[in-house]
Amino acid sequence: MTSTNGHNAGSQAPVENVIIIGSGPAGFTAGLYAARANLSPLLITGNDYGGQVSITYDIENYPGFPESLSGPELVEKFKAQAEKFGTRVEFDYVKEIVVDQHPFLVRTESGAEYRTRTIIVSTGARPRYLEVPGEKEFTGKGVSYCATCDGFFFRGKDVLVVGGGDSAAEEALFLTRYASRVRILHRRDKLRASKILQDRVFTNEKIEVLWNTVVTEIVGKNGAVTGVKTQDTVTGEEGFLTTDGVFIFVGHLPNNELFPGKLELDEDGHLITDRKYRTNVPGIFAAGEIQDKVFKQVATSVGQGCGAAMSATRFLEELEAGHAIDWSADPREFALPRVGALA
Ligand code: NAP
Repeated sequence: MTSTNGHNAGSQAPVENVIIIGSGPAGFTAGLYAARANLSPLLITGNDYGGQVSITYDIENYPGFPESLSGPELVEKFKAQAEKFGTRVEFDYVKEIVVDQHPFLVRTESGAEYRTRTIIVSTGARPRYLEVPGEKEFTGKGVSYCATCDGFFFRGKDVLVVGGGDSAAEEALFLTRYASRVRILHRRDKLRASKILQDRVFTNEKIEVLWNTVVTEIVGKNGAVTGVKTQDTVTGEEGFLTTDGVFIFVGHLPNNELFPGKLELDEDGHLITDRKYRTNVPGIFAAGEIQDKVFKQVATSVGQGCGAAMSATRFLEELEAGHAIDWSADPREFALPRVGALA
């Protein structure tokens, strides 16, 4: 790491205090807190403005909104509040970060290059693919990863939902608004979804759960899905289900393409942060689903964005005070196991 004290060779761009990468709940909350610390943060949205929450129809478990509200409504509120205090929002996509020099460099798809003292990564996650034949071919032609976006096109039709988690349950319930029949295909004999969603699934007359069932191929005709080949995970028996649409909710993958070789990732591709949301590079913090593989809630991402911005603020105060930063040292501190915990 070389410190250029704000004068990076090869770039005359002014040095930002904080660049936030990503516009989900973690990103906008980091913007709000950094702005209120007078840091005039720059938030670069990424291509999926608002992140996963923006494709959520109804949010019932974000505190403060007992009547619930839609994902896009919540994103607009997050943005308005962050901008009110001075967050600058750029609709652009970060394609490269340079972290072995300080200030760091952030380069975007539109050709902009920024220098910045700190970075808060909140790039989130995206839906995991099923990776079966026919999936790619029929995406947008009956295969979907977003009931909120595409449910409307299945009015009066038959649809399948693949997965057994909260997303599968929630989206299956949403699809009953339009579809005449919704069958959930789950690979085990128990749903992973929360109890409240399970109860709603089991009492909804339009929903049927097919247990121990995986999709092995999605088939179609004339550019539209007509059915899926299935396999029973217990007996191995193969089958076929006729349907008009396949909605896939089998988990998420962290959006980590910018980081290999630069920031430390775990075996699943999440950034490894400590309790102060520090990554292994001093001055780079991370919040939300890019570093959280446990909770993944709007409420937890918001808290993490807040924490990351407070840590970035402290880091900038140290820089400002002229404290020496050891750029070669990993700043993270991990709790030691408690006595007896190893027994
Ligand atoms: P998830 O909890 O990881 O569940 C993924 C589901 O897909 C699991 O049931 C899993 O089966 C199944 N699955 C994975 N790979 C599969 C494959 N190749 N073939 C067939 N099935 C496969 O993911 P999620 O439902 O997207 O939820 C992600 C996180 O967001 C969770 O923490 C969840 O609580 C949260 N979330 C919360 C809400 C809410 O609070 N309202 C709404 C949506 C999401 P197994 O069960 O056998 O592993």
